[in-house]
Amino acid sequence: MVNNNYALIKEIREYAKLNKVPIMQDEGIDFLTTFIIKHQIKDVLEIGTAIGYSAIMMCLCSPNVRVTSIERDEKKYLEAVKNIKKFHLEDRITLIFNDALNVKLDDKYDLVFIDAAKAQNIRFFELYERNLKDVGYIITDNIYFHGLVKQNEKEIKSRNIRGIVRKIKDYINFLKDNVNYETTIYDAGDGISVSIKKSK
Ligand code: SAM
Repeated sequence: MVNNNYALIKEIREYAKLNKVPIMQDEGIDFLTTFIIKHQIKDVLEIGTAIGYSAIMMCLCSPNVRVTSIERDEKKYLEAVKNIKKFHLEDRITLIFNDALNVKLDDKYDLVFIDAAKAQNIRFFELYERNLKDVGYIITDNIYFHGLVKQNEKEIKSRNIRGIVRKIKDYINFLKDNVNYETTIYDAGDGISVSIKKSK
């Protein structure tokens, strides 16, 4: 990574902190980019662009990576457009400004990376697994939801948060029971699940 990129990445991280945009933690990014390199991933579909941080980091880890990423929030989408331009990655990152629940894509990807509304993980998985190549992976971030998934539910005061935690637990069970995939949950960052599509 050239020095100028370091400065730009620092800027994005600072913007995220200042504007309370939840971008991936360092450990999560390290895990994701290591996975991409190890499995020679080329085509990635990301659900949840935010301001483009993870999409940019995925492209910077390997020159062969191309990312299509979906974001529904206009302000974040416009910030992502700006950031991607700064890195001259317009040719390798395609942004879709829409609700991922309303998008239908025909292309096939090596990796679907789910990092959007946590309560909708099952719907995202079911919608986009059809876009996986025969050898394909689905990775989901925030499986521990800031550690709350491991906590006793009674200790979670907010009803809304309790609801999200329950939905994430449902997602974990959905992954465990899904006979078409082999899923492992890793402790990296905020918890990351990797689901490997089984060959038929
Ligand atoms: N992947 C980003 C990164 O690490 O740089 C962070 C993504 S942030 C955790 C989640 C993003 O998903 C938010 O910007 C939110 O607006 C977006 N999002 C949530 N639900 C969505 C949906 N149904 N369709 C598209 N975007 C969605």
